[in-house]
Amino acid sequence: MRPMHARALVDKALTLHGLGWTQRRIARECGVSQTAVSHWINGRRRSMPGDGDRGVYCPVCGDGRLAPRAYAYLLGLYLGDGYIGAIRRGVDYLSIVCCDTWPGLMVECATAMAAVFPVTVFQVRRQGCTEIKATSKHWRCVFPQHGPGKKHERRIALESWQREIVDAHPKEFLRGLIHSDGIRVVNRVRRKRPRPGAEFHVYPRYQFTNASSDIVALCTRALDRVGVDWRTHVTRRDREDLRPLHVVSVSRREAVAAMDTFVGPKY
Ligand SMILES: [Zn+2]
Repeated sequence: MRPMHARALVDKALTLHGLGWTQRRIARECGVSQTAVSHWINGRRRSMPGDGDRGVYCPVCGDGRLAPRAYAYLLGLYLGDGYIGAIRRGVDYLSIVCCDTWPGLMVECATAMAAVFPVTVFQVRRQGCTEIKATSKHWRCVFPQHGPGKKHERRIALESWQREIVDAHPKEFLRGLIHSDGIRVVNRVRRKRPRPGAEFHVYPRYQFTNASSDIVALCTRALDRVGVDWRTHVTRRDREDLRPLHVVSVSRREAVAAMDTFVGPKY
């Protein structure tokens, strides 16, 4: 009997296939046989929906169901560092730029995109980073925060259905925010009374940095929901034409430990 595989694992394999991964590499990443991977890829080719029925997958203007966890994560990525642009009239792309230092993030980002919509995800290599992209007619439906200009130059407010998802899955939302515009850093501060072998006080902390006070407010609201202590401050920039940046810091030991359970270092 052929073993049953979770839908999420199949989706991940197909997404990696779309990114150009070899079947051998996909099999290793997913922990399954190459035969299984080949079966999923070839089976999918036979059952690709025609153009006529692709419109209904949108949860806003069609009758598709949104995968809430993947959506909360992707919304965090989008608000932190995502961009929607037009390919041609009525068709857009969603682009999330991932730093090449963290290949694990690319896989997670691509998997989340494909979980929200049945889209083919592809990657564009740039200097030092990789753009993860997918085209759809419906990115503006699920990310109505899209608008002209930069996100920090306009009001960013969630629709009520988005707020419900973020309130239900604040950890996934925070994970997306930290993965895009955040970082987990390890601070080393010289102790006032250094001892041999313990000259430094070493402590990890999280920071989320964004020019939009609205997006920062969404971040701190989600932190409140998961009971994580935070502080904010504003940093001026070296150029006068640049907006000041809002920084959210999570640095208390138990707060960092709580964040580590669902975010952790970028990988
Ligand atoms: Zn739509």
